[in-house]
Amino acid sequence: MRRRIVAGNWKMHGSVAENTTLVDKLLQGFPADAGADCYVCPPFVYLRGVARQLDGSAIRVGAQDASAEIQGAYTGEVAAGMLADVGCSAVIVGHSERRTLHHDSDQLVARKFMAVQAAGLTPILCVGEQLGQRESKQTEQVVGRQLDAVLDLVGVAALGKAILAYEPVWAIGTGRTATPQQAEDVHHFIRKRIAALDGKIAGLVPVLYGGSVKAANAGELFAMPNVDGGLIGGASLNAEEFLAILQAART
Ligand code: PEP
Repeated sequence: MRRRIVAGNWKMHGSVAENTTLVDKLLQGFPADAGADCYVCPPFVYLRGVARQLDGSAIRVGAQDASAEIQGAYTGEVAAGMLADVGCSAVIVGHSERRTLHHDSDQLVARKFMAVQAAGLTPILCVGEQLGQRESKQTEQVVGRQLDAVLDLVGVAALGKAILAYEPVWAIGTGRTATPQQAEDVHHFIRKRIAALDGKIAGLVPVLYGGSVKAANAGELFAMPNVDGGLIGGASLNAEEFLAILQAART
């Protein structure tokens, strides 16, 4: 059985006070047996504080990005080793907002993936197509290309210590969720592409869905055979909603 995972991407939201309240509520409502691995991914500056607050709990901390470089004169960048140092155990790489707004290329995302693993952390690799690409039936081509860039650099075995997230760009923060079948089709495609290289890894790697997941639609998405949980944006800022999504991920 693949691991079920629910990860919250807080994006550029929060403050010390707001995060403290949110984490308190998560800790209060977190079930003794969640049945799924749970991550929260605050902005860089809050990672240490959130990690301290969550210390000893089952909720893990992830970052939203990392540098492809190990250290040096890269003003404004944060190295994966630094993220490990402040208590992170995972890092999102290739989020669509990084790819579009910050021009992270497929190759740069692959290098970030490699840097994250080299620091002993778990990359959460996001892939997904834009609306126009879906409409012109290029979804598999785009997602395949994004995946291949990572496979070409690190090899398929590296996916055995990674999490994948299919996040159609048109569904992120829009309130427009992929239908469970749309998500399943792309998740199946991803798994098939990995299986062509290594069937065992393909069967093991968790593939999350992200894009306007809420408590109200999480159950039907997570019921699909190739959907192993969710990467949650907006709804992860509300403790009750996020805990209800976690509940929906129970097997
Ligand atoms: C995300 O930021 O990765 C995301 C999926 O956002 P939302 O859930 O708000 O669509």
